[in-house]
Amino acid sequence: MGKVSKGINCSAKGCSESAVKSLSKNKLVGSDIEIVGERRIYLCKNHYKELKKSSKKEDDIERIRWKG
Ligand SMILES: [Zn+2]
Repeated sequence: MGKVSKGINCSAKGCSESAVKSLSKNKLVGSDIEIVGERRIYLCKNHYKELKKSSKKEDDIERIRWKG
C-alpha cells in the first residue's frame, strides 16, 4: 500500500478523514469523487474504496506506489 504521512487529510470535497493513499489527479478521471487540490490528491480509506469501485482500471490503481 502506498502509505501517506500522518496528518494529511482526504482530498475529496467535504471529507476530513485521514488520507491513506496518494494518487495523481488523473487517476480520478471518470470517478464520481470531487477533489479539492491540484496535482497530488490524497484519499481516505472510504474514498479509495469508492474510487476503486467506480473505476474500471482497478488493477492500475492497485499498482500505484507513490514515490514521494
Ligand atoms: Zn475521504
